[in-house]
Amino acid sequence: MAGEPQADCLFCKIIAGNIPATVVRETDTTVAFRDINPQAPTHVLVIPKVHYADAAALAAAEPGIAADVLREAGRIAADEKIVEHGYRVVFNTGAGAGQTVFHAHAHVLGGRGLQWPPG
Ligand code: 5GP
Ligand code: ZN
Repeated sequence: MAGEPQADCLFCKIIAGNIPATVVRETDTTVAFRDINPQAPTHVLVIPKVHYADAAALAAAEPGIAADVLREAGRIAADEKIVEHGYRVVFNTGAGAGQTVFHAHAHVLGGRGLQWPPG
């Protein structure tokens, strides 16, 4: 069924507690945890508890949960005190754009200068 946990999905395993992660916030619909290979002083991933391959698929099927992910990204940025100097919320979509885990996730990046355009 759409949105159901996938046995071969790394982030579904983190949600289930089968793979450890440094969780910074959890809600009924989302989990936020530190990226294992941080690209900035703050690098947190916000994921929906439901499984969709990318942000667009999540938004099409569950717009309320997609909004939850965005709200949580902002909440993490505030908690991490990266709002004042600016931060970035990134949804890599597709292997060609660097997506490696096909469970929708927002990268919340900040705490250093951020170049535009990104690489
Ligand atoms: P993507 O490349 O799909 O946009 O982002 C996947 C992110 O997941 C990467 O930044 C990668 O470092 C992170 N990641 C991969 N495996 C793990 C893991 O086991 N634990 C955590 N916390 N992050 C992971
Ligand atoms: Zn998943």
